Amino acid sequence: MIDYLVDVDLTTMTGVVELGDDRWAVKVKYEVCPHCSGHGQTTNPAIDGNGISQEQFDDDPEFERDYHSGAYDIECTTCRAQRVVAVPITSLPRDKEMEDAMYSWMREEHVYQQECEAERRAGA
Ligand SMILES: [Zn+2]
Repeated sequence: MIDYLVDVDLTTMTGVVELGDDRWAVKVKYEVCPHCSGHGQTTNPAIDGNGISQEQFDDDPEFERDYHSGAYDIECTTCRAQRVVAVPITSLPRDKEMEDAMYSWMREEHVYQQECEAERRAGA
């Protein structure tokens, strides 16, 4: 589940966007999970949450093989292996304040994800 989206009701496809102390009722839709890209699984963060260096792989080729074969994969914590997540529909006319808050949240999240990705690449 996306962190800022709470109280999702999948029978009515509605939810509540919660950003800090502000809450807005929204309609939701399904999108491919951004965390696992729809695979339903991710590598256990206990294994690579802090990044993995090439040295670790060089020291332990068996670990590298297992890592790449998915031996350390766990159910995706974002979609819980559903491969999709409910997200707010952003095309609806809505409270401008919420839209601004949501977009700035998403930008931060996006920047964070990019930083993670850059770190992964640097460590790979
Ligand atoms: Zn997922």
